[in-house]
Amino acid sequence: MTLVTILSGAGISTDSGIPDYRGPDGVWVRDPEAEKMSTYDHYMNDPEVRRRAWQVRRTHILLNAVPNAAHRAVAELDRRSGVAVRVITQNVDGLHQAAGLPERKVIELHGNARSVTCTDCGARTPMTGAVARVEAGEADPRCLECGGVLKSSTVLFGEHLNDGVLAEAVAVTRASEVFIVVGTTLQVHPAAAFPGLAADNGARTIVVNDRPTPFDDRADQVIREPIGSSLPALLASLS
Ligand code: ZN
Repeated sequence: MTLVTILSGAGISTDSGIPDYRGPDGVWVRDPEAEKMSTYDHYMNDPEVRRRAWQVRRTHILLNAVPNAAHRAVAELDRRSGVAVRVITQNVDGLHQAAGLPERKVIELHGNARSVTCTDCGARTPMTGAVARVEAGEADPRCLECGGVLKSSTVLFGEHLNDGVLAEAVAVTRASEVFIVVGTTLQVHPAAAFPGLAADNGARTIVVNDRPTPFDDRADQVIREPIGSSLPALLASLS
């Protein structure tokens, strides 16, 4: 069994109509109001920020986005015999799973914008249900279990990455035989360190991205072609 790990960033989802976000809640950080909505303290302490965040989520492009050829190619590789696939992703769009990759094979460093989490009791429910309550007139829907503040299940500014998620990502990276970086310029930690860790542990490393990354010089192969066509071709050629 060959373990192939895909480290994916925003570039894999642009063909699905999702712009290259920087903010962990999937909003533009160039907009100071949007930045407040993506910052934990503002979100928790200011009901007005939460009301605006729910209005943004009503029309969130992520909820209607569908997987593209690159996501489908990764899911397809996982169904091939003799290959085990793990995805470590910086994306919060859930499109790897939507393409058919089992949930347990996707490690989401920054969480998932398709669900909401109660900040008191931790209950996790679909984003669509919470948005339906906003549509029905609730400006700031609260947890139905305990009344706590609900937030998107993403890692906001001011929050730490989940330790368990991070540990799993490191373990998978170390164990990889092939490690493929897709659609990220590796500017954000901890993901930026993963390709080097994979290489240190003997993985063959490949970068698929339209822009240079700090790891390109060390990679065994660099592909600077559109992801939607080059990734399916690359994965089909893996032996
Ligand atoms: Zn709760």
